[in-house]
Amino acid sequence: MDLLSIVGLATKRREDYFSQAKLLVKKYKTRELLEERMLKESKAIVVGLQMKQMRWEEYERTLLDKTLTSALAAVYLGAADSNPNAKMEKAWPIIIGDMLPPIVNFLSETKENLDNGALRIGDTTIDFSEQSWPQLLGRVIRYLATPTYSFFSLGDFLRREDQGYKEMRRIGIDDSRTCENCGRFHNLGWQPIGTLPMPGRDCQCFDRCRCFIEYR
Ligand SMILES: [Zn+2]
Ligand SMILES: [Zn+2]
Repeated sequence: MDLLSIVGLATKRREDYFSQAKLLVKKYKTRELLEERMLKESKAIVVGLQMKQMRWEEYERTLLDKTLTSALAAVYLGAADSNPNAKMEKAWPIIIGDMLPPIVNFLSETKENLDNGALRIGDTTIDFSEQSWPQLLGRVIRYLATPTYSFFSLGDFLRREDQGYKEMRRIGIDDSRTCENCGRFHNLGWQPIGTLPMPGRDCQCFDRCRCFIEYR
C-alpha cells in the first residue's frame, strides 16, 4: 500500500477508529494497561502472520487499525475529564502525520523481506527464519504499544492548554539512554506552553523517550 491509499483508507475509517478507541479506554483505564494490551495484540498479529492464519492484506490492515486506535485511545486517556472527544479530534491529524509515513515504509520493507525470505535489520540481512519473528515483533510493538506514551502526553498537553496553564517544562530521566536533545530540552527549564515538543518528537529516543512534562 502506498501513502496515498493508506491515508485514504484511514480517513474513510476514521469514525470506526474513534469508537473503537472509546471502547478500548472503557476496558483499559490507564496508559499502562493500554500499553500492556497492545503488547498482547502485537504478539497476536505477528504470530498470526507467522502461522499463516492471517493473510498479508489482513496483517497490513490490522496493523494500521490497531496503531491508529491505540494512539487515539492514549490521547483520550491523557485528556482525562477535559472533553476527551474533542482532544481526539485535535490529535487526529498529528497521529496521521506521525504514524502513517513510517508504517508505509515498515510494511513495504517487511513485505519485500518476506517475499525474499530474508529480513534486513539495519545493515545486516538475515534469513527470514525463526529468529526474524521476534525482531519483527519488536518493531510492531513500536507502532502499537510504545507510542502510547507520547500520545498520552499529547492528550495531557491539550488538556492543560485548555485549562489555562501558561508554562511547561520537560523532565528528562537522566540515564544513559536519554539522548542529547532530551538533555537539551530538560535544561531549558520552564518555557511558554506549546513551545517544547512532546516526548519522542525531535529526539533520537523516538517512541522510547520517557521524558515527562510538567505544567504551571
Ligand atoms: Zn531523546
Ligand atoms: Zn526523552
